[in-house]
Amino acid sequence: MCNNHDDLELRRKHTASHIMTYAVKMMHPDVKLGVGPWTDEGFYQDFDLGEGKSISEKDFKKIQKKMRWIVNKNFKIVRQEFTEAEAREIWKDDKYKLELIDGIVERGEQISAYDFVDEEGRTVYRDICAGPHLDSTGDLGIFKLTKVAAAYWRGDSDRETLTRIYGVAFPNEEKLAEYEHFLAEAAKRDHRKLGQELGLFTFSEKVGAGLPLFTPKGTFIRNKVEDTIMKIQSKYGFERVNIPHITKKDLYETSGHWAKFKDDLFHVHGKGDTQFVMKPMNCPHHTQIYASQMRSYRDLPIRYAETTTCYRDEQPGELLGLSRVRSLTQDDGHIFCTPDQVLEESRNLVKVIREFYTKLGMFNEGDFKVSLSVRDSANLSKYLGATENWEKAESFLEEVAKSENLPYERIEGEAAFYGPKLDFQFKDSLGREWQLATIQIDFVQPERFGLEYIDNEGKRQTPVMIHRAIAGSLERFMAVIIEHFAGAFPVWLAPVQAHILPVTDAHLPRAEEVLAKIRGISGRAEIIDASDTLGKRLRNSQTGKIPFTIIIGDGEVKSGKLTIRKYGEKKDKQISVEEFLGLLEE
Ligand SMILES: [Zn+2]
Ligand SMILES: [Zn+2]
Repeated sequence: MCNNHDDLELRRKHTASHIMTYAVKMMHPDVKLGVGPWTDEGFYQDFDLGEGKSISEKDFKKIQKKMRWIVNKNFKIVRQEFTEAEAREIWKDDKYKLELIDGIVERGEQISAYDFVDEEGRTVYRDICAGPHLDSTGDLGIFKLTKVAAAYWRGDSDRETLTRIYGVAFPNEEKLAEYEHFLAEAAKRDHRKLGQELGLFTFSEKVGAGLPLFTPKGTFIRNKVEDTIMKIQSKYGFERVNIPHITKKDLYETSGHWAKFKDDLFHVHGKGDTQFVMKPMNCPHHTQIYASQMRSYRDLPIRYAETTTCYRDEQPGELLGLSRVRSLTQDDGHIFCTPDQVLEESRNLVKVIREFYTKLGMFNEGDFKVSLSVRDSANLSKYLGATENWEKAESFLEEVAKSENLPYERIEGEAAFYGPKLDFQFKDSLGREWQLATIQIDFVQPERFGLEYIDNEGKRQTPVMIHRAIAGSLERFMAVIIEHFAGAFPVWLAPVQAHILPVTDAHLPRAEEVLAKIRGISGRAEIIDASDTLGKRLRNSQTGKIPFTIIIGDGEVKSGKLTIRKYGEKKDKQISVEEFLGLLEE
């Protein structure tokens, strides 16, 4: 049953993890083992090496040599089953394994282990694992250890700190080379590095980890993204609203978020006894704007949009550049409508998403996919809200996905307990997928907040709420597009579209004339004066990934034309100022 390619790669990674573990055990016989799963990229294994012992990347050569030996020995990998009592006896000295056994028993699963067996039938290595694995160690192929990190047992910061070793495994050298090329490309595009080099954002220890500060250039990009989305969606009747960044905890008690998320929030204490928190989301606030008036079916749909920052107290260890922050700005929006209006509203949201991602060049066939998350039909009781509304919403979302030709997959059981959704995953230029836009139907929040409208028969009804994000959080979105474009933003999004280089100071007046014309059409350019050599300034414009570099010397002053070099091109072009302005406006 395990013949497809992906399954083979999964078994390869799993097997590699055990081979690494066996190798480490040969070097540290007393080592205790945490978990060792496969990941998208490869595999890892957690080790408790014991007091005072450590492994660093310097040890990789030795470990890999031992791994090679295990591969060459071609041990058979044989599954064994154990009763709880047997397992507890075998692993009686390993507190981690005993805890794992507790879990397996609790879930009512069979305890299984895998043995590496030599030619004489002797077991040389054994570990608890549900598998699957390759049939023998000799099938492993190419492997490589990649890094060491610290990790908590069970991800719990109150528990033991373990040593985690990561690795990758591939069927052949070409696949490893491909992977290494990908890593090198990804490192070049790393938004943390580019954000620094291009001067887009910064962090300050005085402000705190996970709290990015945006420079004028970075702010330009954020605002441009926001404005573009606002402009597109204003065609579909969105209106902007504005809410404060703190709230009484009562709001989240009503919404039901308090019990679940109170430990992930920043708590704020004022002079009085009232407990406030920094908002981690905007939906509950927006319900209160809706609830401020009696609504009639004639008023619906009501569509609120707001780009606003939310705050979540993420673990310091989880923070990562702009991808994982404590202050995240959502391009948020909520629609309140009747169940029947879900069809038209979702269709319009898909149009907004289409227009925005088309502008970014990311809405091409094969570059994105959509998941339609619906209820688990075998377990309907776990969903809140009227069945009739669920059925309607699910079929509406599917109808939109079909009529808008979205490459969608219907995923049963992936709906939230409060409603079905459409999620958009976009591929960046390295083929990595990012979940960015989303349309989520919600039957529960309107109930909890007692939202109402009067229908055409004068009866009180509960509206449906649609949550929607186009870019997701602006911080994460910026991280994605910085890496996608490798910092070379399209002309419309580039904070500086052109550098104007006067060859000498004598050409400065003409450069200033050209700058004024560019500014006249709201273009964005800077004069880089002749305090550096022309060659150096040209190189700086390239490393700054400026879309156009304009050179003005004697010839250009005389002819009235501009010498233009496009980013990434080696050849210059002579064009008139008007032609250049046309390029900018395109
Ligand atoms: Zn395994
Ligand atoms: Zn929402």
